[in-house]
Amino acid sequence: MRKKLAAGNWKMNGTAAQLAEVKTLVDGLATTADVLLCPPATLLDRMSTVADGKIATGAQDCHVAASGAHTGDISCGMIKDAGGTYVILGHSERREDCGEHSDVVRAKTRTAHGAGLVAVVCIGETLAEREAGQTLDILAGQLAGSLPDTTTAGNTVVAYEPVWAIGTGKVPTLDQIQEVHDSLRAELTNRFGAEIADGIRLLYGGSVKPSNASEIFAVSNVDGALVGGASLKAADFGAIIKALG
Ligand code: PEP
Repeated sequence: MRKKLAAGNWKMNGTAAQLAEVKTLVDGLATTADVLLCPPATLLDRMSTVADGKIATGAQDCHVAASGAHTGDISCGMIKDAGGTYVILGHSERREDCGEHSDVVRAKTRTAHGAGLVAVVCIGETLAEREAGQTLDILAGQLAGSLPDTTTAGNTVVAYEPVWAIGTGKVPTLDQIQEVHDSLRAELTNRFGAEIADGIRLLYGGSVKPSNASEIFAVSNVDGALVGGASLKAADFGAIIKALG
């Protein structure tokens, strides 16, 4: 059985003062699910210390290279040195802000695998693509393009995040989420075979809150959530984790 995962993406939010929220979260944690927080790189080392092995930590991006002349970037080795075990790759904000297309995401994911990090690979359609009836085709293309052949159940998590649902308060219907997650599972099975595909966790992301988490988690093939805004507060993220079980 796939272990559930509640993953938080702090994006470009948080300074040392917000580590108190992590302490509160860790102290109150009672779950069988995995819990992950991905803070800005500046906080990763300190958050890993506060997390105390009870929740996992990770970065929001990595460079494909191990080191070198890449101003502003961080490598997988640096993420591990700061206590991180996961890295989010291909988030729509990086695809949009930094022009990261699936071939870049695939190369970074391969690097993360080589370094022993778990890659949380994000894919998602825009509103225009959904309204044009292209959702499943767009997602199949992003999935195929973003996952390298090194993908296994242990080193990869896939997050379905409709671009139009991120930070907007809008959420797809449960039927829409189910259609996508079932289709992603089938795509993974075609490419990697049932044994690997059945073990890869599929997260839903986009305006997940304490008020909608339970119904989303009840959808088949939803193995947890990637949470942005609601992961910044221990009370909200804690409630989402509780809904996961
Ligand atoms: C995200 O950034 O991955 C995300 C899902 O954000 P939010 O939960 O704020 O919509």
